[in-house]
Amino acid sequence: MVFTYIGLDDTDSPQGMCTTYIGALLARSLVHAGMRVTDARLIRLNPNVTWKTRGNAAIALEADGEPDLAFEIACGLVSSHSELACDGTHPGVVVMEHRPGPAFYHKAVQGFCTVEEATTVLTDEDALFRGYKLGRGLIGATAAVAAELPDETTELLVYRRSGAFGTKRLVDPSSFFLADLATRPDTWDTVDIPNNTVVCVPHTPDPVLFGIRGETPFHVARARGFIRTEPTGMEMVYRTNQGTDAHLETQPDGQLQEGHSYRISGTVATRPATLKGGHVTFGLTISASTVTCIAFEPTKQFRQVIRGLLPGDSIVVTGSCKKRSLNLEKIGVTGMVRNVVRESPFCPSCGSRMTSAGRNKGYKCRLCKARVFVPGEREIARDITPGWYEVPSSARRHLARPLVRGLPDDAGGIERSPGE
Ligand code: ATP
Repeated sequence: MVFTYIGLDDTDSPQGMCTTYIGALLARSLVHAGMRVTDARLIRLNPNVTWKTRGNAAIALEADGEPDLAFEIACGLVSSHSELACDGTHPGVVVMEHRPGPAFYHKAVQGFCTVEEATTVLTDEDALFRGYKLGRGLIGATAAVAAELPDETTELLVYRRSGAFGTKRLVDPSSFFLADLATRPDTWDTVDIPNNTVVCVPHTPDPVLFGIRGETPFHVARARGFIRTEPTGMEMVYRTNQGTDAHLETQPDGQLQEGHSYRISGTVATRPATLKGGHVTFGLTISASTVTCIAFEPTKQFRQVIRGLLPGDSIVVTGSCKKRSLNLEKIGVTGMVRNVVRESPFCPSCGSRMTSAGRNKGYKCRLCKARVFVPGEREIARDITPGWYEVPSSARRHLARPLVRGLPDDAGGIERSPGE
């Protein structure tokens, strides 16, 4: 039996289409042509790629059948369904009989690749491939086929009927809250409870009606059963690297690099400050240098945790390096300093509150005239406790691992998070 691996990417535009939709059409067309589709994967790549349309997704299918036929069918669908008229759309289709090693995928999910690097991998694999226009989609298509998934999750995508594309989506929000209630923690990011919004229904004019994310096909199917919407079209279940932190590098060598994402430990260097627009920043000392960390306004309640940090706290952060700052996704508070304020002491003789005797002159008691030189100290309770904290569902990136899936592998010694 011949196994065929097919990769697709960069077919959509801000005005419409979605590579996952073409993947779903392709799976059906391959079955129609007599093949068995044995795997379908939705692979997210480096979220910091600026030329992405939305979430930097690429698709890979595995089928038992002839590569030539699969390539012909895939190119036919990409040619007829891609948004080729859009300046930023540069599709890629790849078909091969063996999966390349995972190195190209790791570079594409954590760093940056070129079309030439992709075509080198494809040529080494004797792949059939076609790049449209600039052929940039060959990068994502190759990476999706090469992806290894040591940790994986599932997404069930439900598409609209084609006549409804571009119109307002008709959904019953309460059914999404019910689905979440019945299936969380095995599903996540269906709704954002603290912000009272449905997050799994896009607002863009693409064919997706909604997507349910969860641990297994069983869990997402269970959640799907609760959901009430307009009449639906195709449905497709993908294995994915979403919610796995696959984009994070844990051993940065030297300086943090622009467009890379990290999980790193450091010490809070400056008091958090709220900027115009509601973004919250602070300095974090990592090894010998200090970087600015930012929790943007859309991260909502997460900013309150950040405001609770104090210089000297030990933390682990995850996030992406952009414009030399670290945009935060999660933080683990591993060690907290005492919040002690200095104030006028109480008089050791009569117990009344003393007052300052002047600069560098200590404190005096107005009643009994006693003098002391050491200030009093008062410990103020901290607003946060040790543990991991994350942005709300509505601000979460596709690749970021939600805490509902458990603490990060290297949790910084934290065994539980607040609220667990
Ligand atoms: P679509 O639904 O079409 O996949 P998208 O939001 O996923 O939309 P694309 O339109 O595919 O984004 O644009 C991303 C482009 O960036 C693709 O051409 C892809 O091949 C390319 N790309 C992905 N990861 C990298 C990377 N690490 N380095 C360079 N290019 C990349």
